[in-house]
Amino acid sequence: MQGCLGELTRELCAVGADFHRRGWVLATAGNFSAVLGRQPYRLLITASGRHKGRLAPGDFLTLDEHGRPVEPGPDRPSAETALHLMLTARPGVGAVLHTHSVWATVLSERFSGEGGLWLGGYEMLKAFDGVTTHEQRVWVPIFDNTQDIPTLAAEVARAFAAPRPPHCGFLIRQHGLYAWGRDLAEASRHIEAFEFLFEVIGRR
Ligand SMILES: [Zn+2]
Repeated sequence: MQGCLGELTRELCAVGADFHRRGWVLATAGNFSAVLGRQPYRLLITASGRHKGRLAPGDFLTLDEHGRPVEPGPDRPSAETALHLMLTARPGVGAVLHTHSVWATVLSERFSGEGGLWLGGYEMLKAFDGVTTHEQRVWVPIFDNTQDIPTLAAEVARAFAAPRPPHCGFLIRQHGLYAWGRDLAEASRHIEAFEFLFEVIGRR
């Protein structure tokens, strides 16, 4: 359990405003979620089509483990809910943030032929959970973009058992970045570190 509904909602609204100001979630792009509880499982997630720079408490839904809203209403959860459900079912994942930045999009295209990219040698890598030296390398897989999110979620789930699993994020080709953490603060720090590193590599 990370915190109360009101507190998490306020924090997610603040993340949205911050990420929008930095150009990572323009024009209703992106979606955010945070685990409210495990028994029973409850996920707070942005409703579909909301502007992430101007989020308000009414722009969120609480879902059960099947992705169904706990309280029926007119809003639909994010179209990419299956990815949030799969990731937050993994041990130690309490929040998932998804952005559509310029550099994530550029790199997702540039490295798609290699199936992903290595991040290595940069001091900023120490912002990632479990990375203690800049000499440690982090693999960022790239998946093809699709509207079939349940199939993509299954593909990402399989990648965790692959020889080069995602560390705390992955890219979707010509689309954007998913990153996660044990809580919202860590997921947000991971997004910032990825975005910094993507821009460094992109500009280089
Ligand atoms: Zn997206």
